[in-house]
Amino acid sequence: MSLVIPAAAPATVAVHGGGEFPVRRIYCVGRNYAEHAQEMGFTGREQPFFFMKPADAVVNVADGSTAGMAYPPQTKNLHHEVELVVAIGAGGRDIAVADAAKHIWGYAIGLDMTRRDLQNEMKKQGRPWCIGKAFDQSAPIGPLHSIARTGELNKGAITLSVNGAIKQKGDLSELIWNVAETISILSAAWELKAGDLIFTGTPAGVGAVVPGDLMEGAIEGLGQLRVVVK
Ligand code: MN
Repeated sequence: MSLVIPAAAPATVAVHGGGEFPVRRIYCVGRNYAEHAQEMGFTGREQPFFFMKPADAVVNVADGSTAGMAYPPQTKNLHHEVELVVAIGAGGRDIAVADAAKHIWGYAIGLDMTRRDLQNEMKKQGRPWCIGKAFDQSAPIGPLHSIARTGELNKGAITLSVNGAIKQKGDLSELIWNVAETISILSAAWELKAGDLIFTGTPAGVGAVVPGDLMEGAIEGLGQLRVVVK
């Protein structure tokens, strides 16, 4: 194969203990904790719905380090959404809920950063969310912890603080559609492949950050993710 321009370097996420996980696609689940759905103006158990971010939206945060993310253009309301990120190690189609865990390579803490003002405007107009959700550096993640080390994660505290003050607080057990159900439903719509990441949804308490703010995400068993808005 002879490429006519240089290929972009593959996006990767650092692995706890060493190595890099190559990212193929980033799927995201909308409104997957009841209290967050309520704060967004929705109630009840909707069918899950999905959007995507480009792989190169990843901000790869190495173990124990604090990463920077650029404050994106065209927004006055940049929101944090802390989420459990599931990394797919073995792909498949129409994966049964009971088999879903076999497809998981590992887990990480991720931030589904959102230009909320632009997303809300797109919602109002019935237009795609890309400009609100899929901007450059909109997906700080890391590091990945292998399921071999953590076991299956179905419960545990998930929190996000800004400058030391807790803003988001929930438990993985409160997911409306749990990880196995999400993998099963996603794999009916797209063929999942090794390298795919799934942002599983955010608990209540989303809010704005400004340049200089330090966001610290934490999930029981996965340590912490620290990102400063530049
Ligand atoms: Mn989200």
